[in-house]
Amino acid sequence: MSGCIFCRIVAGSAPSTRVYEDDTLLAFLDIRPITRGHTLVVPKQHATDLDELDHALGARVFTLGHRIAKAVRRSDLNADGANLVLNDGRAAFQTVGHVHLHVVPRKHGDRWGFATGFVLRRPHDTESTAAAIRAGLDRLETEERETRA
Ligand code: AMP
Ligand code: ZN
Repeated sequence: MSGCIFCRIVAGSAPSTRVYEDDTLLAFLDIRPITRGHTLVVPKQHATDLDELDHALGARVFTLGHRIAKAVRRSDLNADGANLVLNDGRAAFQTVGHVHLHVVPRKHGDRWGFATGFVLRRPHDTESTAAAIRAGLDRLETEERETRA
């Protein structure tokens, strides 16, 4: 969908700071993060909302959001948890019409930082933030490999 900003990000014709990518999914940093590491997970194929999204692809979107929530705990962002939020439809305050799952890293006692971040939505150092999340995903994979061995 040429008019869709997230389709343009997927196609590489609009800029983004990528955290993870495979054949069907892309995860990149939110341009106006609530907390450091705020990431959006999107299906590469355009779907405006959950009503248009294939169930199996929706499950993949959640699985990647789940992995990123685990990765930020294992990363130098030192998250203790995360808010996973999907605003489905304009009635639910969805502002970009391409399905996306927010992963917002949280720390114990960050209530004030979260509240100000929610209002200010200022970017953090994007390259180091994305690198930290990628490293967290690598740590998660290593841990999973060792558990299987
Ligand atoms: P929602 O209200 O759930 O539709 O959230 C849309 C999110 O997309 C907001 O958090 C925006 O900051 C984010 N966003 C909008 N445009 C971009 C962009 N070009 N790159 C990264 N994030 C974006
Ligand atoms: Zn799109």
